[in-house]
Amino acid sequence: MKESCGERTYRRGASTVEFIVILPLFILLSLVVWQLIITGMAVVDAQAAVRDAVKVASLTGNEEKAKEQGESSFGGDYKDYKLKMKVKVESLSEMAYATAKIEIPVIFMDSVPFTYETKGEAPLLRTGTGSIGGGAPEFLDTEGGVLGPPLKVMYINSDYGPRWGAFHGGWDLKGAEGTPMFAAEGGKVIRAGASNGYGTLIIIHHEELNLYTWYAHSWQRDILVKVGDKVERGEQISSVGNNGKSTGPHLHWEVRYGGVPGTHTNPRPYLDSDVVN
Ligand SMILES: [Zn+2]
Repeated sequence: MKESCGERTYRRGASTVEFIVILPLFILLSLVVWQLIITGMAVVDAQAAVRDAVKVASLTGNEEKAKEQGESSFGGDYKDYKLKMKVKVESLSEMAYATAKIEIPVIFMDSVPFTYETKGEAPLLRTGTGSIGGGAPEFLDTEGGVLGPPLKVMYINSDYGPRWGAFHGGWDLKGAEGTPMFAAEGGKVIRAGASNGYGTLIIIHHEELNLYTWYAHSWQRDILVKVGDKVERGEQISSVGNNGKSTGPHLHWEVRYGGVPGTHTNPRPYLDSDVVN
């Protein structure tokens, strides 16, 4: 009896020790697991928000609508973590970007949340037959005016003017990769090389006209001029490429005045021999 009584006491002592050690460990472990679950859900929700926002931005070009979609995909206010969502539609590079940033509260720490940020991007989708913004490309029958045509055959995929809620500061001219690209007028090359968004950018200064012409999206290997070169009207300077944030081979061409970067203007009158002289 004594022995078994002693044994029972010993057991009771052991289970108390186990209880004291294991219970807090168990609670701590539960909290860690719960924190991981919250963080995991927040990450998944943020990724869904970005994915859906980019999809809407890519289809509609509308930043507001895209942001609304992202926030609604993220879900309601009951969540412990808060969302900051940004959507940007860039008409120049024809890309849509979305960023979701969330702050995830750390259990027992009010002031120091985790932050998690996720980003997504997608090209703005073309609608219609190869035209950005709908409709068939416009064929421009021109031999040039003040400026010569930068491509031999001129199809305007996307006109100068408002587009995607922003402003398209030039023309997108249709052309297969490798199609020769010509200087629109004699002048001096003031830029020829890599440029964000444009892929590559060639700028020619036509001093007598106080104009600049910009040529974007060439492949570096196709560029035939360098800064400082004097070029003639109609001289080949490069070829059509698909470099930079471009959704297909084309020449993004701008006419600007008033210095670099200058103010872009509608290229149309400059190519019309009847209008401008
Ligand atoms: Zn363009």
